[in-house]
Amino acid sequence: MGQLTQTSQQNVNGFLSNSGDSIAAYQDAIATAQQVVIDYLAQQTRPYSGANPDELTQILATREICPEGNQQLKEILNYIGETILNNSVVVSHPTCIAHLHCPPLIPALAAEVLISASNQSMDSWDQSPAATLLEQQVINWLCQLFGYEQTSDGIFTSGGTQSNFMGLLLARDRYLRDRFNWSVQQQGLPPDASRLRILSSAVSHFTIRQAAALLGLGEQAVIPVETDSNYRLCPHALTHELAQLYQQNLLPIALVGTVGTTDFGSIDPLAELAAIAQNNGLWFHVDAAYGGALMMSDRHQHKLTGIECADSIAVDFHKLFYQPISCGAFLLKDRSQFNAIALHADYLNPQTNVEAGIPDLVTKSIQTSRRFDALKLFVSLQTLGRQGFADLIDTTIDLAVQTAQLIDGESNLKLVNYPTLNAVVFRYCPQQSCHSNSINRQIRTTLMENGEAVLAQTQIGQQTYLKFTLLNPQTTVDHIRQLLHRIQHLGHQLELTGTWNMRE
Ligand SMILES: *Cc1c(COP(=O)(O)O)cnc(C)c1O
Repeated sequence: MGQLTQTSQQNVNGFLSNSGDSIAAYQDAIATAQQVVIDYLAQQTRPYSGANPDELTQILATREICPEGNQQLKEILNYIGETILNNSVVVSHPTCIAHLHCPPLIPALAAEVLISASNQSMDSWDQSPAATLLEQQVINWLCQLFGYEQTSDGIFTSGGTQSNFMGLLLARDRYLRDRFNWSVQQQGLPPDASRLRILSSAVSHFTIRQAAALLGLGEQAVIPVETDSNYRLCPHALTHELAQLYQQNLLPIALVGTVGTTDFGSIDPLAELAAIAQNNGLWFHVDAAYGGALMMSDRHQHKLTGIECADSIAVDFHKLFYQPISCGAFLLKDRSQFNAIALHADYLNPQTNVEAGIPDLVTKSIQTSRRFDALKLFVSLQTLGRQGFADLIDTTIDLAVQTAQLIDGESNLKLVNYPTLNAVVFRYCPQQSCHSNSINRQIRTTLMENGEAVLAQTQIGQQTYLKFTLLNPQTTVDHIRQLLHRIQHLGHQLELTGTWNMRE
């Protein structure tokens, strides 16, 4: 073999290894990256800089994506700190409360260092020996946490989107196998596929419709079921919908229960839904992406009673488990259902491995190369303990309840939901209601542009509402009180000056 040229030798030193040069470069790079993060946090007094897309485009246009030669890492990271980080939403800021977007736990950030440096790939055992076994142990613990028996199993996923997709995929394939003796994996969709139906509440997550579309059933397959006044799926309405479907000779295959709807945090009555699913031979999938973490809390766990009856469960850790994105899991009551997606590649996970008892997690996943995200959850569970997570959850739900009480006590604010989780939906009510949608939208935009607060908005019927998602344990009732005053003040000003017109 020829000698390495000087530049390629330099590039070889750019990899992590046990050579002295490599270790020094690694330590230096990680320390620089940490310093950039620390500087960024130190500068953030607001949840967002307020820059709009045009301004950001200009800021970023100055740098070539791939220069011809090399550059100093330190300079690059500093550039990123100034341009990207300084124009990022500050998830740890107490008034960054728009979405299910959490501040990450420090132990999980430390684990990320190990995950990326060791770069295990979770598809086959020979690419992640100990990591495979730890993921499996964490999965076994999760199955227990959700009240599953020994026959259960699961897999880490990128999040709720993937977990919901897997649940409905297995639901479709079990139904067609059992009723039509049809293998979708082998034969594709049968001619009758357009008759299959999935039921979920009218406020379930859009990924349920997305999954139906991707599964070749079309969004038409998802029947939205009416909710009660607390935005929970109404069992009476469900029974009624089912009767109608049977009458139209359609084929209901699955029922989706939601634990924590995105807008209201409402939790469907799982035990009742489980019974209806069982009586009708439906696969019962629970989308607990948001609210699954309530299983950690003595005070709130009871809200999920019945989840142990679900055929499958989606749970996210990058929401109420405070993990950096991405981290989620799909849990399955009867592990043999994974057979519907099992594939064996001779190079990766040959059938002989199964016989030899070598666990290749790829047989349970729709991803191939996959990160060892189970590790960061494990490190966080170890560090905080069950009680630590329970405290975080209890605190944020208490704050949501207090927030709802504050809103309820103000005559020019209208509360929509009494929180079961930590989402609070409300609106500013101007004296003249004809401009109320524009005023509420403008309040949100102004707070974002001023970098004062990052809120969400949502639509109920024809009306625009504001939403707080109180995930951050560092947000206090004083932050909320101040923010509500600002909202009232802005609303009042907009009413007086009529400035809402200018932007719409
Ligand atoms: C967040 C969420 C999803 C989507 O999950 P991702 O992790 O973003 O893929 C699905 N359902 C519910 C209820 C959610 O809250």
